[in-house]
Amino acid sequence: MSIFKKEAEPQPYTVKEKQLTCSHCGNGTFNQEDIMIHYRGSLTNAFATVFICANCTKMTWFTGAMDNS
Ligand SMILES: [Zn+2]
Repeated sequence: MSIFKKEAEPQPYTVKEKQLTCSHCGNGTFNQEDIMIHYRGSLTNAFATVFICANCTKMTWFTGAMDNS
């Protein structure tokens, strides 16, 4: 048995000292995914952090990688 939560387990997140809530349904638990965005025609790569609402699956995007330490 692991003491660590599974990554797929939804949990609340805080962004800029404010708890994240779904703008659609008001739910407060999300699955987090870090996504690399490829811009076509450019060498620029960027990371985005997306939070997927555990209730309605609406995706809330933030550019840049989140510091969850
Ligand atoms: Zn939602």
